[in-house]
Amino acid sequence: MPQTNALKIATIPGDGIGREVVPEGMRVLEAAGRKFDIAFQFDEVDWSCDVYKKTGRMMPEDGLERFKKHDAVFLGAVGWPDVPDHISLWGLLIPIRRTYHQYVNLRPCRLLRGTTSPLANRSAEDIDFYVVRENVEGEYSEAGGRLYRGMEDEIAIQEAIFTRRGVDRVLRYAFELAKTRKRGHVTSATKSNGIVHTMPFWDERFKAVKADYPDIETSQYHIDILCAHFVQHPDWFDVVVGSNLFGDILSDLGPAVAGSIGIAPSANINPEGDYPSMFEPVHGSAPDIAGQGIANPIGQIWSAAMMLDHLGHADAAAAVIEAIETVIADPASRTKDMGGKATTAECGEAIAQALAS
Ligand code: ATP
Ligand code: MG
Repeated sequence: MPQTNALKIATIPGDGIGREVVPEGMRVLEAAGRKFDIAFQFDEVDWSCDVYKKTGRMMPEDGLERFKKHDAVFLGAVGWPDVPDHISLWGLLIPIRRTYHQYVNLRPCRLLRGTTSPLANRSAEDIDFYVVRENVEGEYSEAGGRLYRGMEDEIAIQEAIFTRRGVDRVLRYAFELAKTRKRGHVTSATKSNGIVHTMPFWDERFKAVKADYPDIETSQYHIDILCAHFVQHPDWFDVVVGSNLFGDILSDLGPAVAGSIGIAPSANINPEGDYPSMFEPVHGSAPDIAGQGIANPIGQIWSAAMMLDHLGHADAAAAVIEAIETVIADPASRTKDMGGKATTAECGEAIAQALAS
């Protein structure tokens, strides 16, 4: 019998290494549950490119309906080389983000103890910031079209959609997050000199929202120089907020300066909590290493820590991160991408054990 007070977690292992790392995330969640007295009810589904190839759908028609009352979604990775990206994206990820109003994409960019940054001479103190990406509107829209196809004066038009409600709420999230941080600093990314309607609008809203947070320091940069600063001065940043496109770029660059793709976590957050938020590693299904048992499970496990934190278990979340740091410090528990020989399961097991001890 499932416990009535258990946290209801929808799990979607998905494709490729998603299926190898999600079980490790669950293993560590169970260990955290035993230690901090948290019960989980996992409802697993096989939504994936494999299922798409058999049924023509990434998920059943009533799929989203089934999980709308759950506490969270725990996702591995979806995507496979023989299924076009727009099918896995528009058939699963985007409907979940939109239907559940997950308008914030949150990525910690933090150099964990025991990992090395590709940047020379950077330590854990230098790299500890969040990228907050607007996750449902902006540049990634279907508005626009193609004219005069195949002709010499062919035209493609792509519209970006920025609403005051949509911009304000993600900015507000960034300021609220900064309030919980030691430094309390928000950086905004735009390109107002080249993109002359939406970006100045974002700047205006940034100014308006900032007025409600007199204690938070701010800075604003154009996306191009901001990318350079991420590499040259990662220590300047605390909370960085950007539109869907700019946030997308920064949220790949940020974790890259903080080390391996295999350890980076992310969250798609519905701040109001009226629908579940979704937690997934930054990496994809990694077809090149899938099925070998060598994928690094830490991105998935760190995503589990973000989920615990979001669900009100900050102490359990911090303990999971500490267990990850303990395990990475020992080269014998590292997976191949971090220079070790451990399997996915050995690494996950070591983290679960470190948590229990
Ligand atoms: P997507 O488009 O779904 O983001 P992608 O094609 O951009 O996927 P990934 O699937 O993230 O890329 O893989 C990029 C590279 O990183 C691959 O060489 C892959 O093997 C490696 N990689 C990704 N995740 C891991 C992991 N957890 N452990 C080890 N290596 C990984
Ligand atoms: Mg990718």
